[in-house]
Amino acid sequence: MSYQHILLAVDLTEESEQVAEKAVMLMRENQASLSLIHVIEPLSFAYGGDVPMDLSTIQDQLDEQAQQRLSEFSSQLSVDIKQTHVVTGHTSSEIHRIAKETDIDLIIVGSHGRHGLSLLLGSTANDVLHGAICDVLAVRVEK
Ligand code: AMP
Repeated sequence: MSYQHILLAVDLTEESEQVAEKAVMLMRENQASLSLIHVIEPLSFAYGGDVPMDLSTIQDQLDEQAQQRLSEFSSQLSVDIKQTHVVTGHTSSEIHRIAKETDIDLIIVGSHGRHGLSLLLGSTANDVLHGAICDVLAVRVEK
């Protein structure tokens, strides 16, 4: 059975290119559609009510920058991209939500194969795997 609609989770770091190469390869092999998602975690998640100022202007700027960077990233890939999603919220929950809403059958994320403390604390790849209702591919990212 081949995949029909692949969702590539892009954190907009340099590593995204390595993960995207695999996604494009799988897309071609499966003759699937490819969509992209980038999640912005709200500043309020990090700072809560502790900052006595309005963060909405900075948040708007971050959102705008992310939109632009994802669309640049998308146009650098040599394939047609079905949808690009820039959403705000908790990373793995948003990836699951969009995957469900857009009939994704494979989610692709990067994975660092961490050790020690960061392994205990977990990773986005781990979070995405737990609770996913479709297949998840964690592409090992070389340093
Ligand atoms: P991390 O474990 O957070 O270093 O991230 C590993 C992988 O999770 C990345 O290569 C992306 O595929 C995905 N990821 C992490 N953060 C985000 C984000 N904000 N938006 C979309 N995908 C992300």
